[in-house]
Amino acid sequence: MPTFSIVENVDFREIRERINFRQSGCIFREIPEERIVGYNALAFAMYDKHPVTDLHALVISKRHAATFFDLFEPERRAINQLLDKLRVDILNKDALVSGFNIGMNSGSVAGQTVDHAHVHLIPRRGGDVQEPRGGVRGVIPGKAIY
Ligand code: AMP
Repeated sequence: MPTFSIVENVDFREIRERINFRQSGCIFREIPEERIVGYNALAFAMYDKHPVTDLHALVISKRHAATFFDLFEPERRAINQLLDKLRVDILNKDALVSGFNIGMNSGSVAGQTVDHAHVHLIPRRGGDVQEPRGGVRGVIPGKAIY
C-alpha cells in the first residue's frame, strides 16, 4: 500500500484521459502496485531496485515520455511535489541522512538505461564516500573536484 498520496485542488480529468500510464514495452509498466510508495495525479514514486545508497528512490511520470525534457510543466510540478514529500519521508526514516543528490540521466550517452522519464533521489550520509566534493560532477570521472 502506498504510504502517502497528495491530491491537489486542480481538475486533472482532461489531462488524465490523455495519460497512458501502462505503456507496453516499458520496464516501469511492470511495477507492482505494492512497490509504489506514493503518487499524485501525474507521477509516482518507488524505491530503486538497485540502490546506489540505502533509500535511493525514483520519481516517475505516469505518462510514458522518454526523458524529463519530454514532460509537460504539470508533470514536472507533480514530480517536484513527490521529491519534496519523499525527502521528508527519508529524513524521518533515517537520521543519518544529511544530504541528497537529485539526478536525471537524459539519453543513453548520459547513462539513461530506462527509457521512461524519472528522477533519482539519492540520500547521502556523512562519510558514505571518501570525498563527496563535486557530487553529480562525478558523472565524468576525474572531473568532480576542481
Ligand atoms: P537510469 O539508468 O537513469 O535510466 O535509471 C534507471 C533506474 O531504474 C536504475 O537506478 C535502476 O536500478 C532502476 N530500476 C530498473 N528496473 C527497476 C525495477 N524493476 N524496479 C525499481 N527500479 C528499477
